[in-house]
Amino acid sequence: MNMISYKTITLRKGKEESLKRYHPWVFSGAIQRMDNGIEEGDIVNVTASDGSILGVGHYQIGSIAVRMLDFSERVIDETFFVERLQRAFDMRMTLGLVRTDNNAFRLVHGEGDFLPGLVVDIYDNTAVVQAHSPGMHFARNIIAEALLKIAGGLVKNVYYKSETTLPYKAELDPQNDYIIGNFDGNIAMENGLSFYVDWLKGQKTGFFVDQRDNRLLLQHYAKDRRVLNMFCYTGGFSFYALRGGAQSVCSVDSSEKAIRLTTDNVALNFPDDKRHRAVATDAFKFLAEMGSGEYDLIILDPPAFAKHKSALKNALIGYRRINAKAFEKIASGGILFTFSCSQAVSKEQFRVAVFSAAAQSGRKVRILHQLTQPSDHPINIYHPEGEYLKGLVLYVE
Ligand code: SAH
Repeated sequence: MNMISYKTITLRKGKEESLKRYHPWVFSGAIQRMDNGIEEGDIVNVTASDGSILGVGHYQIGSIAVRMLDFSERVIDETFFVERLQRAFDMRMTLGLVRTDNNAFRLVHGEGDFLPGLVVDIYDNTAVVQAHSPGMHFARNIIAEALLKIAGGLVKNVYYKSETTLPYKAELDPQNDYIIGNFDGNIAMENGLSFYVDWLKGQKTGFFVDQRDNRLLLQHYAKDRRVLNMFCYTGGFSFYALRGGAQSVCSVDSSEKAIRLTTDNVALNFPDDKRHRAVATDAFKFLAEMGSGEYDLIILDPPAFAKHKSALKNALIGYRRINAKAFEKIASGGILFTFSCSQAVSKEQFRVAVFSAAAQSGRKVRILHQLTQPSDHPINIYHPEGEYLKGLVLYVE
């Protein structure tokens, strides 16, 4: 018998099918019966209507009621997390992402690493941990201990950052803070370029590691071009463009803080490089006011316009509007890198929005590349919802 026996959630007849296909979510409507006393964040056993065990997961109040951690009956303890995290790390090694010139990568991408509700980004020796479910919030200390045990001791500091990622109704009041270790520097490397990562105050875990491959592709096209990096945040695309031999790079973000980070990061890699300038202003305003033909490589990487399905219609209008401006203004022979990181917007919907924007401009436009998230943001094949980043590289005549 297990040392720990978890309470049980029983599903309605027929509702076990998706779990049998390893989809990691149980929706609240699929539940027939719950043991008394199950609380938000508890580890629960999930059984089919005939009582057969389907697996174990974290319970949560809401439309996604259980996030499955395993499809068998097992104890969720530090050993479980050490095993899962080591497997996640081994995969990053196989992907070639752990190198002296690249020490920033995503170690855990939720469902994509069979740890729904958990995100871990590594910046050199610091792991930044984000819980997206109460269950992962309660497990944060064991997760932190487990992180120290994997990867041959690579991780020395664990910073917990879930103030904005947990359902606020759960009233967990998570404090952003170090669980283990302390601040000991915040310069990380991506493909040989250095950057400051502000996990204390920055957005998300402090840097967008998900654009790594796309930045490298951009570098390839940057030579002699006048580059406009819209929604630059920490300036990732900008310093790749400079390395690629851009004639000039203009970085734009509405946040003054983002502009300071971009300027500092550019200086870290290309001190006193006169090719770069940074402007703190609204993207729509900047695009409306800039001259036609001023830029021949434009990057549009806005924040998620639709955080939920309910915002989808306005989000699609937003994508169309901003892309239409870029098509209207980009120089002939220009290249547009355009992205959407909204999970609620499908690849097809994004493409239609960009397609409509192109048609509105009347320009001749060809698709050169169709981009997605990098390999350290894997998509669990049983959980297609895990695909969120979409990008198109377009040649505009
Ligand atoms: N391209 C970045 C990530 C972009 S995140 C990278 O590679 O790291 C989105 C950014 O858009 C944030 O920095 C945010 O400050 C900025 N932003 C949001 N709304 C904006 C607006 N209306 N105009 C300009 N920037 C905006």
